[in-house]
Amino acid sequence: MPGKINAKKIKQDFPILSIKMNGKPLVYLDSAATSQKPRQVIDAITDYYLTYNANIHRGIYEISEKATETYIESKRKLADFINAKEMEEIIYVRNTTEAINLVALSWAEQNLKRGDVVLVTEMEHHSNIVPWQLLSRRKHTKLEYIKLDASHNFIDMDDFKEKLETKNPRLVAVTHASNVLGTINDVREISRLSHRVGAKVLVDGAQSAPHMKVDVSNIDCDFFAFSGHKMLAPTGIGALYAKRDILENTEPMLGGGDMIKDVSFQSAIWNDLPWKFEAGTSNIEGGIGFGAAVDYLNKLGMQNIRSHEKSLTRYALEEISKVKGVSVYGPGPNKIEKRGGVISFSVKGIHPHDIASIFNSEGIAIRAGHHCAIPLVRGVLNEPALARMSFYVYNNNEDIDKAIAAIRKAQRIFRVA
Ligand code: PMP
Repeated sequence: MPGKINAKKIKQDFPILSIKMNGKPLVYLDSAATSQKPRQVIDAITDYYLTYNANIHRGIYEISEKATETYIESKRKLADFINAKEMEEIIYVRNTTEAINLVALSWAEQNLKRGDVVLVTEMEHHSNIVPWQLLSRRKHTKLEYIKLDASHNFIDMDDFKEKLETKNPRLVAVTHASNVLGTINDVREISRLSHRVGAKVLVDGAQSAPHMKVDVSNIDCDFFAFSGHKMLAPTGIGALYAKRDILENTEPMLGGGDMIKDVSFQSAIWNDLPWKFEAGTSNIEGGIGFGAAVDYLNKLGMQNIRSHEKSLTRYALEEISKVKGVSVYGPGPNKIEKRGGVISFSVKGIHPHDIASIFNSEGIAIRAGHHCAIPLVRGVLNEPALARMSFYVYNNNEDIDKAIAAIRKAQRIFRVA
């Protein structure tokens, strides 16, 4: 039985949501950029610093052992959270960007050669484009794009299948959920088709892991990248999931302390997974905070979170469609199964930055710009910039009503209504 998310009650767990911005109660509609943090996560970090701050893996004393165990336990929680087989497949990094760069600088660097193709989609964030451009400069690999269909909302699966046959990619790297369109891609099918031609598959889960049940075993991707800060955890911690056999057969990107078993003056023996890929002192508070964030999300239930966000998104799409002069991007309310709670929009006659400023004066935080997806926003959607509101567990319909009122206010100020 799905439990209902009570956003009003949840708001109470997030101290920041009771502050005022410009004298108005804060309405936070920018969770796709970063989420707010519940007291439970803040407390877990504070507790670490107040009662067991010590380095991990090293100390043979109680508080170091507790720090080590809590850090490792957070990996077990994350492995369960995305249904990885074991915590050895979870590498901690700073964020999604670093996770993707780690794949580019280790696995791809070591396995791809001149002329090999990396296939991505036109809806990728810069963090799933630029690392492959850098790889091309170092290794003379080629970067090819899967087109979007005529609606500009979905991957063109015919184009994808054709490129699988004609380009023979070694890697297909695709976002699970778009941070501009909200579109949720069928990464399981993409993975199945890619594996048929021998390509490895990387999924950018920055916008999916916080919002829906992710099952990497079911998707059968080879790599899955995500950020803690978008899913209630602190900044500076994210994760790369990769299949064990790949990690075992890949040389580490960074060398130093903790990633070795033994070192001589001339060579070293790598440590066991996952530590082989985590050189130097880890982001211990980040790992501990990540574990607490996963506990919080599990308590709410990922299915319940997804239902809540579908209902918010449906409501927002319906309400926004009643406002004249507003264009909305991404799948419509009749395709709610295929979209997440990210709504990019533009208002005729008003620049998105002016929209965001007027929202700000109403205490409402939204994003305006190219959303780190310039090829999509400018190249495909043909827009200089877009305004974007995005939802999470603590949002309710009231927040959306305030956002709609702010759009109407902007139209009055700019006399475009
Ligand atoms: N991919 C997508 C789809 C994103 O939305 C983002 C963040 N906006 C990233 C990657 C990069 O995440 P981070 O900045 O945490 O590395």
